[in-house]
Parts: sequence; structure tokens; C-alpha cells
Amino acid sequence: MTEAKLIDGKAAAAALRHRVGDGVAGLIARGGPTPGLATVLVGADPASQVYVRSKARLAGELGMASFDFRLDEATSEAALLGVIDELNADNRVHGILVQLPLPAHIDTAQVLMAIDPAKDVDGFHPFNVGRLGTVAPRAPLDFPVPCTPLGVSMLLQDTVGSLGGRNAVVVGRSNLVGRPVAQLLLRADCTVTIAHSRTRDLPAVARTADILVVAIGRPEFVRGDWIRPGAVVIDVGINRVPAADGKTRLVGDVAFDEARRVAGHLTPVPGGVGPMTVACLMFNTLQEARRASGLTFTAAD
Ligand code: NAP
Repeated sequence: MTEAKLIDGKAAAAALRHRVGDGVAGLIARGGPTPGLATVLVGADPASQVYVRSKARLAGELGMASFDFRLDEATSEAALLGVIDELNADNRVHGILVQLPLPAHIDTAQVLMAIDPAKDVDGFHPFNVGRLGTVAPRAPLDFPVPCTPLGVSMLLQDTVGSLGGRNAVVVGRSNLVGRPVAQLLLRADCTVTIAHSRTRDLPAVARTADILVVAIGRPEFVRGDWIRPGAVVIDVGINRVPAADGKTRLVGDVAFDEARRVAGHLTPVPGGVGPMTVACLMFNTLQEARRASGLTFTAAD
């Protein structure tokens, strides 16, 4: 029996970071701006601090400017909106990332809506959500797309090449992952089914998939016998579960050992989709700086 080929997200992310680093240098060499990423963190959540620090560090490594805003947990919504207004007006800043979750007293939707859509490198602004929802098949993505879904679609394109006509099943319909993944696959001419917690006979639906993307947040929920032999399986889930040694370990939403015996290609967790997310954030920031520059670029740049 052949085993699924593992999709190496670490290597793909390293290649994308390299491409972005080259793109930054090329933009500056053509007289364009130094791409700038502003990160905004409200409060002192330890995991959020780690994420924000690593994003700012990577921006610096790729030759970008990074602007780090750490605001007190008690910061009012009005004060946060004031910071966003300043960043919207600052032409050194091409990407604004507000680390989520925000404290409960702040209306997240209002904050995301206040970000200039041309600096919305997370792709969460309703304007950009609408653009993704209305993009024509195969039309260029000339607006920011949420990072994890963009990473998923890049991995799929690297693995499968043309996605046209494939049956894709996306399990999960969150605004963060499932819906934008489905929109990207539809744009790439897949026949897309979106499944969720109310889907009837999910195993049967999953078995129709040439491409199965799972983003539900349930450890090892999708079993090997739900997978069509040879399918490409992208496991977006990141779940921490107890390990045999009394510590914890990360697993995806797909039962990896079972899936490996059936799928044609499979992302591991960790080391699959995860590393692509932050690389795509850098890609989005470069793209927005390119658009702000008024210079022209080809798809190969
Ligand atoms: P979410 O907002 O909680 O959404 C989960 C989705 O899964 C919902 O649409 C839900 O359906 C569906 N679902 C839940 N249980 C289900 C079940 N038993 N059967 C079928 N569908 C079910 O989660 P998310 O933000 O999309 O994240 C999903 C996973 O991806 C999590 O493990 C998260 O940690 C991971 N993630 C990874 C990255 C990365 O960089 N790799 C980035 C973001 C998220 P309903 O809509 O019906 O409730």
C-alpha cells in the first residue's frame, strides 16, 4: 500500500518568505516604498504576545519596516480607533494587523471595519470579504485575502496544479478559514461543497472530495474511511491534546495515521498549513506596498 505524500508547509513557507524578501528588495530598488507592517496588540495575552513578536521579527528579516503598538488591556475602543486612524494616514504603513481576540469591552467588528481596506492585510474588512465573495473565476486577487485560506490555496496549487473541475469539500464555515477557503476554490474552478456541524452524513459528503479541506477545531475528527483514495487532504486544525508522556502534543482535525494510508497528499500538523499563515501575512503586506507604489508588477514578480 502506498502512503500519502506529505505536503511540506515548512518548505513552502520558506520559499514564499524568500520570494517576499526578494520582492521587498526589488520594490525598494525600483524606488518604491519600504513595505511597513503595523501590529497592534491590546492587553498582555501571552500567546498573542508571542504571535505579534514573531510577525514583527519576520517583517524585519524580510527587509520590511515594522511598527509595534502595545496598548493596555483597559484601552477604550475610541482610543484604539484613534490609533487605527493614525496608521491609516501614515504612508510608511502598508499593512495593519490588529491581533485578535480583542478584550470583551471592544467591538471587534467596528475595529476591523475602521482599518483602511487597502491596509487590511488580514483580509477581514467587509469590503475585502465582499471582493473575495464576488471575484470572477480566475480573476486576479488584487485585494488582500485572509492569510490562512491564502496559504491553503497556495499549497493546493503547488500540489495539484490546476484545480479546475475538481470536487472540493470544505469542512468548516468560519469567516476566518472555511468560507474564504471555499471562495478561493470556487475562483479556481472547483466544484465546492461547504460542510459544517449541521451537515447530514458528513463522512459520505467528505468521500466525494478530490480535495478535502478540514477546519473545524476537533482533534482527529475526520477518519481515514471518510477520505476518497488518492484525495488531497489539507488539515487546517490545530488542537492541543494530552500526550502519553503526560505532556501535550499538537494534532490536526484529521486522524493523521489513518488518513496517511488513504490520501494521495496530506498536510501534517504541525508543519502543514500553520507555517504558511504568517508567510502569507508578509506576502499581503508586500502586495499592498506594491499597490501603493503605483508601479506595475507581473504575476511572476
Ligand atoms: P471556528 O470558528 O470554531 O469554526 C469551526 C467550524 O467547524 C464551524 O463552521 C463549525 O460548524 C464547524 N464544525 C465544528 N464541529 C463540527 C463537526 N463536528 N462537524 C462538522 N463541522 C463542524 O474555527 P476556525 O477559526 O475556522 O478554526 C478551525 C481550526 O483551524 C481550529 O483548529 C483552529 O485552531 C485552526 N486554525 C489554524 C490556523 C493555521 O494557521 N493553521 C489558522 C486559523 C485556524 P458550525 O458553523 O455549524 O458551528
